[in-house]
Amino acid sequence: MNRRGFMRTAAAAPLLGAMLDDARRNRAEAAAPAAGTDGSGGTKVRDTGASITAEVMRLQLRHTWTTVMSSSTTRDTLLVRYTRDGITGIGEGAPIKRYNETAQEAVAALATVRPLLIDGDPWQHRELAAELWRRLPGQWALKAAIDAALTDWVGKRLGVPLYRYLGLDPRKIPVTTFSIGIDTPEVTRQKVREAADFPVLKVKVGLTSDEATIAAVRSVTNKPLRVDANEGWQTKEEALRKIKWLQTQGVEFIEQPLPAALHEEQRWLREQVEMPIFADEACLHLQDIPRLAQAYDGVNIKLDKCGGLWEGLRMIHTARAHGMKVMLGCMISSSLAMAAAAHLAPLVDYIDLDGFLLIANDPFVGLGVEHGKLRLSAEPGLGIKPRPSGA
Ligand SMILES: [Mg+2]
Repeated sequence: MNRRGFMRTAAAAPLLGAMLDDARRNRAEAAAPAAGTDGSGGTKVRDTGASITAEVMRLQLRHTWTTVMSSSTTRDTLLVRYTRDGITGIGEGAPIKRYNETAQEAVAALATVRPLLIDGDPWQHRELAAELWRRLPGQWALKAAIDAALTDWVGKRLGVPLYRYLGLDPRKIPVTTFSIGIDTPEVTRQKVREAADFPVLKVKVGLTSDEATIAAVRSVTNKPLRVDANEGWQTKEEALRKIKWLQTQGVEFIEQPLPAALHEEQRWLREQVEMPIFADEACLHLQDIPRLAQAYDGVNIKLDKCGGLWEGLRMIHTARAHGMKVMLGCMISSSLAMAAAAHLAPLVDYIDLDGFLLIANDPFVGLGVEHGKLRLSAEPGLGIKPRPSGA
């Protein structure tokens, strides 16, 4: 067999296996007794003792949050609960418009894979995730929430925190940046003062007001800054001019100066400047990393983009193998999503896990922060619990 034939066979074999599995499963499901409605309400599909639900959580922002992408006062994220043997694992994902996902659509999508998840063996959660990925196109934030809920369940069932299951030291989590969204100079100064406890700030830029924004920040603090343009600069010449200026402003590195699609322009830009450049919107999945290594110095990995903890772990190692720096980032979400990423954080160089600090109604407790240092609970699994009423 020649190489092309070998590759085709190798690629087709698991697919064929999955198709046969699907056919068998469909027959079994068709033969199973009817089990009531299967919306998002968590009805047991068959009597396995397991259930899985998804609901939308509306988070209230402390400040109107503006980046190049959008401006908002609330954010909807997704809460997944997986129950089996009397133990409930929880996980959160944050679908966003940039990646054509919404929390409402994610809740509906869970119904299509609920039988798989209820019948599947959580001890074989990697097998289960592989099958989930074969069956469910897209919906990466939902996959991340499911992945976190299954992993939380395993940790709780074993009675160990996830960092211990992974063999990691939570004291090695880097200090998180605190993010300053785009605003007027007056509000920007106020936000910087409110962030007094954080030793490093991340400032959102990408508009014509960039110079005024940085000047407002610098009028209040001399802290190290990191900057995120969220694809806001449209030409490599504009990006070059702005980065050369930022190099004089005590900025350590920049995220995504150009639109993700402008790969060749980004390669050129990297050659012109000293400042390290991280890919964020250009870095979604594991297979993106080898190509990004040609044009960026580091990657910002977010579990909501890649589909969960275990894919994030593979991406961290892959980026390392390509000589890249690694940051773990987040969407605006509660401490439940932050905790999932924080358990991997001892492995990375930088973290930007402040999403839970930007909201006013975090429904959970268990993740602390002090001078920018995240503190994971020693409770099993993700170590996160619902906030007691009145707390
Ligand atoms: Mg970013």
